[in-house]
Amino acid sequence: MPAPEPVLVVAAHPDDEVLGCGATMARLAAEGQAVHIAILGEGITSRSSRDDSDAKLLRRLHQQAEAAALKVGAKDVVLFKLPDNRLDTLPMLEVAKLIEDLIQKLRPAVIYTHHPGDLNLDHGIVHRAVLIATRPVLGHPVRQILTFEVPSSTEWAFQKIEPVFRPNVFVEVSKTLDAKIAALACYDSETRDFPHPRSEQTLRAIATRWGSIIGCTAAESFELVRSIR
Ligand SMILES: [Zn+2]
Repeated sequence: MPAPEPVLVVAAHPDDEVLGCGATMARLAAEGQAVHIAILGEGITSRSSRDDSDAKLLRRLHQQAEAAALKVGAKDVVLFKLPDNRLDTLPMLEVAKLIEDLIQKLRPAVIYTHHPGDLNLDHGIVHRAVLIATRPVLGHPVRQILTFEVPSSTEWAFQKIEPVFRPNVFVEVSKTLDAKIAALACYDSETRDFPHPRSEQTLRAIATRWGSIIGCTAAESFELVRSIR
C-alpha cells in the first residue's frame, strides 16, 4: 500500500472533476488515498436575476455533484458556488484565497486541476488561482500539481490557446473507467449523445487512445506542472 498522499481535485464547474480525472480519483480512492474535490463555479451560467426554477436546477446540480463524488469514492466535495463562466469578474486573489484556505484545512500532497490552454476561460482562471494558492513556501503541503484535459474544452482550443496541453503523466485506469462513466451519468444535464466529446462512447475512446500510448487498455493523461521530492 502506498504512503497516504491526500489528493485535492480543483475544478471550475460541476462535471469537470469527473471528465478530467474521474477514473484516476476512483483508482486512488480504491488504493486507500483520501480524495477531496473542490468545485468553484456554481454550474449554471450566471444571470443578473434568478428565479425559482434556477434555484431548483442549482440544487439538483449540486446533489448530482455529491452523487458523482460518491461514485468515484471521494471523501467529500466542497461547492464554492462562484458565478459560473464569470470567474474573470472576481479578483484573482479572492479565488486563490478560497483554494488556499481549503489547502490549509485538508493538507493535500497532490493537486489535480485544469490546464490553462482550455477554451473555457474559467478553466484558465482556476489553473492560475491554484498556482497562487500553492506557492511552495516553507512547510507548504502540496508537492505535486497535475493538469487534466476536459473533453469539449481542451481539444476545442485547437492548439490556438497557449500553452497547448502536452500530457506527460499517464494513469492506467482499466479497472476504474466504469466508475468514471457512472459518475458522469449522475450529471444527466451535462452528458451528451455520441459523437459529442462528453458522451460515454467518446470518453471510452479517449481513455483507449491514451491507454494505447502507454501499453494498456485505458488511461487518463495529465501534464505535470511541478513535482517536489
Ligand atoms: Zn468547465
